[in-house]
Amino acid sequence: MVAYEELSKEELLQLKSDLEAQFEDVKAQNLHLDMSRGKPSTEQLNLSMDMMDVLRSDSDLVCEEGVDCRNYGVLDGIAEAKQLLADMMEVPKDNIVIFGNSSLNIMYDTIARSMTHGVMGSTPWAKLDKVKFLCPVPGYDRHFAITEYFGIEMINVPMTPTGPDMDMVEELVSTDPAIKGIWCVPKYSNPQGITYSDETVHRFAKLNPAAKDFRIFWDNAYGIHHLYEDKQDYLIEILMECKKEGHPDMVYKFSSTSKISFPGSGIAAIAASDANLADIRKQMRIQTIGHDKLNQLRHARYFGNIHGMVQHMKKHADILRPKFDIVLNTLDKELGGLGIGSWLAPRGGYFISFDSMDGCAKAIVAKAKDAGLVMTGAGATFPYGKDPKDSNIRIAPSYPTVKELKLAAKIFVLSVKLVSIDKLLQ
Ligand code: PLP
Repeated sequence: MVAYEELSKEELLQLKSDLEAQFEDVKAQNLHLDMSRGKPSTEQLNLSMDMMDVLRSDSDLVCEEGVDCRNYGVLDGIAEAKQLLADMMEVPKDNIVIFGNSSLNIMYDTIARSMTHGVMGSTPWAKLDKVKFLCPVPGYDRHFAITEYFGIEMINVPMTPTGPDMDMVEELVSTDPAIKGIWCVPKYSNPQGITYSDETVHRFAKLNPAAKDFRIFWDNAYGIHHLYEDKQDYLIEILMECKKEGHPDMVYKFSSTSKISFPGSGIAAIAASDANLADIRKQMRIQTIGHDKLNQLRHARYFGNIHGMVQHMKKHADILRPKFDIVLNTLDKELGGLGIGSWLAPRGGYFISFDSMDGCAKAIVAKAKDAGLVMTGAGATFPYGKDPKDSNIRIAPSYPTVKELKLAAKIFVLSVKLVSIDKLLQ
């Protein structure tokens, strides 16, 4: 493979005309492919179908505490669901509150409550002149959408292969009291699939924030979402680490079963210190009489315990692994050594993150669309939808079938090549 940069203008033009012919061929197939959102495939959803039969009209619907799950009662989650999610989130059962069907919803509520009522007695954020959040980039668009919605100023912090740039995080958090939080996806991050190193987690736990009400928003959405049995990432548990460092209240941890059972119909939870949870329950009590206990019971009985859940995740991995392999092999084979893009091979999660040459991402996404392939919008992985280098593209291989993915990967690499050649010819 010769790097495109080393090719002469004539060679690039020749290559371009060959690639354009290939592109027209795929375009003529009138394809409708989608690699835009990280949704489980139908095959993955089918894995959990037996869960629908766990609760039947003749089932005993009384939970461990003796409460009839069909009725009101139990504000923060039935014991068996708390145990299951506590084990999944690697925290004590007493440090967890179960909410409804979405962890994003809990994150939104957490920010909304901080805006209107402050954090454990602090001034409500909405009454402050300025509230800022650190946003590791590239990151999850829906996190950034929440902070944007509340008018919170977002500051980009570059990701490194071991997590966010911690020199920058430490410097900003310790000097600027307007910084109230940081968004983190610490394991198999969205979109890069990076897991924070031990050192990064230690440095997070040792932070000395200028703001008393600074919180780490630790969204461990992909905690048990491995792709391989023999190659797995390990993440230090942050709640315990913060406690050890004398900062027990500095972190909120979020997770859900969205990509374990059914997205939008799973169960979600927050884990935090006793003091944080007391603060949260004060509001929760006003907001609801209790969330869906039947769904909690269904999940607890279906999985039995964390071991059941881990076994179940292996079935997801068996479906996802070949899909990641198709995309990664295509990237390696078609783009390796060309100097027109870089990517990481994740060991878990739902995404592959691709970095094109600067100034090419939007054009690549548009080109792919031209051939019938929808990608996540370029820029979506950055606050305000603005990627300063216009280079990051999130690839979501989970939803299409293997057959569709082969075509989608082909269209993607063709688009990258064509747009890169145009850039080099400028
Ligand atoms: N957090 C991250 C990092 C995600 O990637 C997603 C979904 O893609 C979510 C949260 C959504 O979680 P939930 O379905 O629990 O709201």
